[in-house]
Amino acid sequence: MVNVEVWQKLHSELSAKKVTLVAVSKTKPAEDIQEMYALGQRDFGENYVQELVDKEAALPKDIRWHFIGHLQRNKVKFIAPFVHLIHGVDSGKLLSEINKQAEKNARVIDVLLQMHIADEDTKFGMDEREIDAAVTEAMQMPHVRICGLMGMATNTDDDNKIREEYRRLKQLFDKLAQHQFNGQTHFHTCSIGMSGDYAIAVEEGSTMVRIGSLLFGERNYTR
Ligand SMILES: *Cc1c(COP(=O)(O)O)cnc(C)c1O
Repeated sequence: MVNVEVWQKLHSELSAKKVTLVAVSKTKPAEDIQEMYALGQRDFGENYVQELVDKEAALPKDIRWHFIGHLQRNKVKFIAPFVHLIHGVDSGKLLSEINKQAEKNARVIDVLLQMHIADEDTKFGMDEREIDAAVTEAMQMPHVRICGLMGMATNTDDDNKIREEYRRLKQLFDKLAQHQFNGQTHFHTCSIGMSGDYAIAVEEGSTMVRIGSLLFGERNYTR
């Protein structure tokens, strides 16, 4: 089920602020995506490779598919032909595999490096030093383009803590933009903010939010 009013409100609020809305459709049926597509939504986010491959085949070709989950190296090849942006890149090895598969498909794949900002060590991501190393490695990879950073905040009711974590990501983003990327215009994306905390993320400089349950209702993983 698609919450049309919420979509309209988010769409106008976010586009006024030049923030891209990625509708996170994982576990939701293709009909829900089709319905939101009809409203004008084009960016959709998925977490599971097989689910993404099936949906891509079944749905309109001008959808921009974002892979937002944890990507295993042996699965890059399945999404390399069409993926628009890979958010959660958390190692140089994964970057190198994406470069290889992008070359096979004669394309350049846009990626975001995932920064570990949460307390939970169950969340993936790199620290500042690892991100610096990945940026350096990517200089030798002509088929990947680093477009920014992605992060997931701690799962908490403490808004100040979430704000502080997003702020740290934005600070590193600004530093990289200024130094390593020297103001290059393709380094422009801060993918932070989900259903529960997107307003905080936007205040802290998000340029891309990933919103699922607010738009599609709660997910049911046992279905
Ligand atoms: C599922 C998911 C989201 C969306 O979460 P909601 O709370 O439903 O908005 C955003 N980002 C990532 C990485 C996710 O896995």
